[in-house]
Amino acid sequence: MRGTYAAAPRCTALQGTVGEAAHCGIYPQRPSVCREVAPSWEFGAVSPQCDKARLAHGLAVLTPQDWLDPSTAGTPPLPQSA
Ligand code: SF4
Repeated sequence: MRGTYAAAPRCTALQGTVGEAAHCGIYPQRPSVCREVAPSWEFGAVSPQCDKARLAHGLAVLTPQDWLDPSTAGTPPLPQSA
C-alpha cells in the first residue's frame, strides 16, 4: 500500500506494468486491506471495489474468462468416470 497516497498513486510492492503484466510483489504477505478486496470473479462473484479501481485506472473490469488457465483454455473437459 505504500505509495498509494502519492499524487501519482502506485504501490511500491506492485511489480511490472499496469495494463500489460503486473503483479503484487508481496502477495503472500500483502496487508489485510489488500486481502479484503477480492478481485472480481476470483471466487465466482463481482467485486464492486475491484471494478471501481480498475475502471479508475483505465482498465477493463475482470470477467470469469480472466480466471481460465491459458494452458487449458479452449480444451474440452476431461471425460467423467462412471
Ligand atoms: S495487493 Fe500488493 S501491489 Fe496491490 S496494493 Fe496491496 S501490497 Fe500493493
